[in-house]
Amino acid sequence: MAKILIVLYPDPVTGYPPVYARETIPEITEYPGGVTVPSPKAIDFVPGQLLGSVSGGLGLKNWLESEGHTVVITSDKEGADSVFEKELPDADIVISQPFWPAYLTAERIEKAKNLQLVVTAGIGSDHTDLNAANERGITVAEVTYSNSISVAEHTVMQVLVLVRDFVKQHQIAAEGGWNIADAVERSYDLEGMRVGVFAAGRIGRAVIERLAPFGVRLSYTDRFRLPQEYEEKYNLTFHESIEDLVKEIDVLTVHAPLTEETRGLLNDELLATMPRGAYIVNPARGAIADRDAIVRALESGQLAGYAGDVWDPQPAPADHPWRTMPHNAMTTHTSGTSLSGQARYAAGTREVLEDWFAGSPLRPEYLIVEGGSYRGTGAHSYAQQPTHSDEQQNNQ
Ligand code: NAD
Repeated sequence: MAKILIVLYPDPVTGYPPVYARETIPEITEYPGGVTVPSPKAIDFVPGQLLGSVSGGLGLKNWLESEGHTVVITSDKEGADSVFEKELPDADIVISQPFWPAYLTAERIEKAKNLQLVVTAGIGSDHTDLNAANERGITVAEVTYSNSISVAEHTVMQVLVLVRDFVKQHQIAAEGGWNIADAVERSYDLEGMRVGVFAAGRIGRAVIERLAPFGVRLSYTDRFRLPQEYEEKYNLTFHESIEDLVKEIDVLTVHAPLTEETRGLLNDELLATMPRGAYIVNPARGAIADRDAIVRALESGQLAGYAGDVWDPQPAPADHPWRTMPHNAMTTHTSGTSLSGQARYAAGTREVLEDWFAGSPLRPEYLIVEGGSYRGTGAHSYAQQPTHSDEQQNNQ
């Protein structure tokens, strides 16, 4: 029997469960490309309810305990005295979400002598030291595709929020004002703008497909080029590198994983090569951007706006400059944890656990590392690779 340590964000301050705005969520059965949604044998939760907080427990606790496993669920994850740190040494499985990541550093992995499986309930496993996991032969899996569309929708929202300058207009309305000139002095149409997409994986492609009907001019870069028919369908211009991509765009959206190659990419030098007044929407990882370079570019007017969803670290300190920098439309890493997304990644986490306990192979698209090397999605999206190869196309 296994000990499963689950780290989740705290319950709502008004208590659990919240009062739900809707009774149900639509049933989604398939992702683009014919990939099926998570398919566990059973679930113990009502889709559309809050599962990502401690009391929601990803809907796993009753099932795991009925199978004889020990389950610890906590939100207390930082520092030597935290519940996470104390429970880690004899845990067999660790589960956490990128929204409230249980940082599995090399030191923590060293302490976790029994650890065999790390599951990201969501997408993005950079909170686990993947090299250390590889050295120990630990399996790291995530629920690929579970919230990709959630993030793509959030991206489109943030693009529109920045370009149309929604936040200020809403504040004027909420505060009882009616000065239309103030409200529109930074408000533009997205139509006709040049949008560059950095990384055209599941989220990047969903953003392309959702933004195309706005009449924008789309370009992208990825280390794998998309099929020609896809490029033609969306009138996409391919660039070899992000340096080439950003020179002639009005809006940059960022959808690459955080790796040694992408950390700190959006720095002073790169931002200076963008046209003045460009916008950045980065729902991927905060650390892909140089925190202070973004602040400087907004203050100087080089950037007209920055909207992101992910911070470094999380939770972000109260005095993090991205909370107060000008023309920001930040959210607190919520894009992938809508109630709709939670239902899918909770089901996917259960599917991973069912397969793990049955000794069955995990779905290749869920695998990041296994048996000491990058596998499945990990091999495609995380492992260091040579740049563009004409033979390799982004068909994942
Ligand atoms: P994906 O694996 O489908 O796509 C990632 C793409 O990035 C791949 O096409 C890969 O080739 C490309 N890539 C990797 N390194 C690159 C590099 N150095 N240069 C150019 N391209 C590179 O993943 P996805 O589902 O599209 O998710 C992308 C990322 O978004 C995740 O890794 C995660 O960090 C983030 N994410 C955030 C949230 C959220 O809630 N904000 C939710 C899900 C995912």
